[in-house]
Amino acid sequence: MRLFEGTAWDRPPTCGRCGKLEAECTCPPIVAAKELIPPQKQTARLTVEKRKKGKLVTVIRGLSAEANDLPALLTRLKNSCGAGGAIEEDALEIQGDQLNRLQTILGEIGYKVVAR
Ligand SMILES: [Zn+2]
Repeated sequence: MRLFEGTAWDRPPTCGRCGKLEAECTCPPIVAAKELIPPQKQTARLTVEKRKKGKLVTVIRGLSAEANDLPALLTRLKNSCGAGGAIEEDALEIQGDQLNRLQTILGEIGYKVVAR
């Protein structure tokens, strides 16, 4: 199942653990038991792609699930963009054309960013 189909976009993002709106969630961050790689040593590759029914998504590739806390990153990016999003294997997808905004946010976190 792909999250970009159906009505998932029509609902505000909620926490997967407590079910509250993410803005109201007070769950502690999940402590990752893995070796994360500093953002400064990673390159995020951004593309805007078209999905079914002409919907645009901004896809972030190059950030692996092993080296990054992707759920936390996704939450941060969704909140910053005010848009929905999903983790697709090793890519993150954010609803809409968010290229410029994501370039700024990821750069602020410390990632090298390549957009095209
Ligand atoms: Zn929560």
